Amino acid sequence: GEGKSLNFIEQIIEEELAEGKNGGRVHTRFPPEPNGYLHIGHATSICLNFGLATEYHGKCNLRFDDTNPSKEDVEYIDSIQQDIQWLGFQWEGEPHFASDYFQQLYDWAEKLILEGKAYVDDQPAEVISAQRMTPTEPGVNSPYRDRTPEENLDLFRRMKSGEFQAGEKVLRAKIDMASSNMLMRDPIMYRIMHVAHHRTGDKWCIYPMYDFTHGQSDYLEGITHSICTLEFEVHRPLYNWFLDQLIDTEYRPRQIEFARRNLSYTVMSKRRLLELVQKGIVAGWDDPRMPTITGLRRAGYTPESIRNFAEKVGVARREIVVDMALLEFCVREHLNKIAPRVMAVLDPVRVVIDNYPEGQTETVEIENNPEDETAGTRMVPFSRELYIERDDFMEDAPKKFFRMTLGNEVRLKGAYIVKCESVEKDAEGNITTIHCTYDADTRSGTGSASNRKVKGTLHWVSAPDAIEAEVRLYDRLFKDPDPAGHKDIDFKEFLNENSLKVLTGCKLEPSLKEAKEGDRFQFQRLGYFCVDKDSKPGALVFNRTVGLKDTWAK
Ligand code: ATP
Ligand code: MG
Ligand code: MG
Repeated sequence: GEGKSLNFIEQIIEEELAEGKNGGRVHTRFPPEPNGYLHIGHATSICLNFGLATEYHGKCNLRFDDTNPSKEDVEYIDSIQQDIQWLGFQWEGEPHFASDYFQQLYDWAEKLILEGKAYVDDQPAEVISAQRMTPTEPGVNSPYRDRTPEENLDLFRRMKSGEFQAGEKVLRAKIDMASSNMLMRDPIMYRIMHVAHHRTGDKWCIYPMYDFTHGQSDYLEGITHSICTLEFEVHRPLYNWFLDQLIDTEYRPRQIEFARRNLSYTVMSKRRLLELVQKGIVAGWDDPRMPTITGLRRAGYTPESIRNFAEKVGVARREIVVDMALLEFCVREHLNKIAPRVMAVLDPVRVVIDNYPEGQTETVEIENNPEDETAGTRMVPFSRELYIERDDFMEDAPKKFFRMTLGNEVRLKGAYIVKCESVEKDAEGNITTIHCTYDADTRSGTGSASNRKVKGTLHWVSAPDAIEAEVRLYDRLFKDPDPAGHKDIDFKEFLNENSLKVLTGCKLEPSLKEAKEGDRFQFQRLGYFCVDKDSKPGALVFNRTVGLKDTWAK
C-alpha cells in the first residue's frame, strides 16, 4: 500500500505480515449464502476481499455458506458465480461449499461431546432462549446440561440417524450460562431439519449452525482474514472458542468486522428483494431498478463503475448509508469515457425543411466520442424530413429558451442551421409538423458561415432513415431515502409509482440498427442507454442507465 493511506483492515494485515503471522500469507474468502441474488452491498464486500488478495499477492476463495437448505437454491449458486466474474474477479480454484465440511464438522461435534463440551438438549427453542435471560442476569441451566458424554453421544447419533422430529432436540456447546455475551450462553451447534440439501441430498437431517460452521470452514480452507459485517462482532468470541477447542496448530484464521454499506432509496435485505420479485412489483431479480448486480448490469452499469464505487465508499467501522447519487456518478463518469454518442429522439415531432430539395439526401460526419480520440467518426444521413424532440420546440418561448422557436435559428447537430418558419397543428392544437428553412452555407465543418453562432444545438434523426425503438426510462424504485427504516410502515408504501416509463415509437439514427444486448450508448443530450435483453432485430429495446446530470439533486 504505497502512496495511499491504509484502511483499518490493511493496517491489521500489514502489522501481521510484519510479524510473519501465518507464514506471511493473505487468504480471504467471500462467503455468500445461496438464498438470493447478490446486491450492491455484496459487491463492496467482493471488491474488498478480492481486492485485498490482489493487493497482498494472496488468494480469495468463494465459499457458499449453504447450511440452511430450506432457503437455498441452485439458481442462486449459478447467479452468484456469474455476478462475481462479471465484476471482474476470479476465485482461487473451485468454489467451496460449507456443506463439503458436514462430515468433518460432525466429527468435531462428537469430539466436543466426548470432552464434555457439548450436550443434547430436549427443550424447545423458546425455552432455551428464555433461559438465557438478559445480559445483566445469569442464565438458567438446562436440566439436560449435565448429561454424560456417553448419553449425549448416543442421542446425537440418533439425531443424525433421523430418529427425532425437527425441534425435538438440539446440540448445544457447553460454555458459560453466565457470560455477559449472550452468544456464549450455550449456543446451539446443530438443529434437526428433515429437508433435502441441494448438494448432500438426504444424507443429513441435522445441519450445523452458522457459528459452528464458519470459523472451522475458514480454518479448513487456510483462510487468514475472515472479513464479515459488524453484526458478527459479538460472534467473534464464539468463533475463537470453537477454534480453540478443536485446533492445536499455530495457524488461525482471524475474524475482522467492517460496517455494512447501504444505499439510499432502496432496500438491500434479500428477504425484501425476494418479496418484490415474488409479488411481481419488479420484473425479476434483474429488473434494472433492483440494487442487485444483475439488475445493475441490465440497466447498463459497467463492472468498472461498480468497482470504482466500492473504492470510493471505502471500509469503515461505522455503518453508512451511501447516496445513490454516488453510484450514478460513478457510472456516468465511466460511460462518459467509453460510450459512443448517437442521436435518438424519444418524443418525436416531424420537421420539414421546405427549401431542402425533395428527394435529396446527404450524410454528415459526426464524432463518435469527443472524450476518446480513437473513437473516430460516423456518417449520419440527413434529409428534408427529420424528427426532433417535441420539447425542443416551443411556440411562445421565454427569452432564455435556446431551443427551437418561431422565427429563431438553431443548429442541427453536425448539420445545418435551420430557422423555424411556421407550424401545422391538428384539431386539438397539437403540433404535427414544424416547417423550417435551412441555410445551405452552414454545414458543420465547412467554411466560415459554418461558424456562425447560434444559441442552441439540437439532436435530430432523418425521418426516412430512422429506426424505431422502445425506450424504458427507469427511475428510483422508492420515493423515500430509507424505505425499510420506518417503524410501523411497510417498505412497499414508499414505492415510486413513476419508476418506469415506457416510450414507444422513439426514432433512432440508423447506425443503431445492429446494436446488441448490453451495448451502451450516450443518446446525445439525454443520457446513457443500453440495449435490453428483450430487444430483437427490428424491435430494439433500450434501458436508460442514468441521465446526463444528477436531476435528483434539485
Ligand atoms: P441479507 O441480510 O440480505 O440476507 P447477508 O449478509 O445475510 O445479507 P450473505 O449472503 O451472508 O448475505 O452475504 C455474503 C457476504 O456479503 C457477507 O460476508 C456479508 O458480510 C457481505 N454483505 C452483505 N450485505 C452487505 C452490505 N450491505 N455491505 C457490505 N457487505 C455486505
Ligand atoms: Mg442472510
Ligand atoms: Mg449472511
